Amino acid sequence: MTTLPAKTDKKLGLVIDLDTCVGCHACVISCKGWNTENYGAPLSDQNAYGADNSGTFLNRVHSYEVQPDVGAAQLIHFPKSCLHCEDAPCVTVCPTGASYKRVEDGIVLVNESDCIGCGLCAWACPYGARELDQAEGVMKKCTLCVDRIYNENLPEEDREPACVRTCPSNARHFGDLGDPDSAVSQLVAERGGMDLMPEQGTKPVNQYLPPRPKDTLPDAGHEFDVLAPFLEPIATEPKGFLSWLDKTLEKF
Ligand code: SF4
Ligand code: SF4
Ligand code: SF4
Repeated sequence: MTTLPAKTDKKLGLVIDLDTCVGCHACVISCKGWNTENYGAPLSDQNAYGADNSGTFLNRVHSYEVQPDVGAAQLIHFPKSCLHCEDAPCVTVCPTGASYKRVEDGIVLVNESDCIGCGLCAWACPYGARELDQAEGVMKKCTLCVDRIYNENLPEEDREPACVRTCPSNARHFGDLGDPDSAVSQLVAERGGMDLMPEQGTKPVNQYLPPRPKDTLPDAGHEFDVLAPFLEPIATEPKGFLSWLDKTLEKF
């Protein structure tokens, strides 16, 4: 079994905004691309174009329809990857020491050359954040793009996780959640960021920002025609520049 560090110097992680995520899966594709072309064994697919296809992903987005106590149902898109837990059961269960948590930044990684593919860590993770690669027989998980964030061969603006760099709705943020003054910690404080399944006692570093309540129609008792604003009569007489142009052309 493998021990966790008593304390880490930083708590690097992600803050994911469930209010602005639009479920586009761009983060899923950029994660798969970067982690297939770079660090460790590529993320394999099986029968990719067949009916019973499967594959290895480090980040997946699930979509749910949620009915709040008051108001209309909302569609919530929920991206899920490793949360780099402080008290990570996937590490302590590992029989070879392949799974470990880094002292310097708190990132949880798998040393693939020591992984025997027993799958114990995937069973221990309550979030389903680890996937055994079927082609390579090694355990895969989010690396927090450790090969990007410190990579001096990349332009400075690219030294952040691929999923964060790609997200078109700015729903993903990266930083040190152990520093109360960091931008991510302040965002969590402002928006009431939450631990995922705190009852599991894993102390996840990644945080989720809850969706804001949606607007309600002022007169919800009456039928509302959403097309009405587009069916307003349009002006029949040209105005401004078009009026001048119209009059000028009439002279010819
Ligand atoms: S989310 Fe799962 S895989 Fe990631 S550190 Fe926590 S227990 Fe381990
Ligand atoms: S941080 Fe990197 S490895 Fe983790 S989900 Fe994002 S793109 Fe994938
Ligand atoms: S890229 Fe951003 S908006 Fe799209 S699914 Fe991922 S987190 Fe959501």
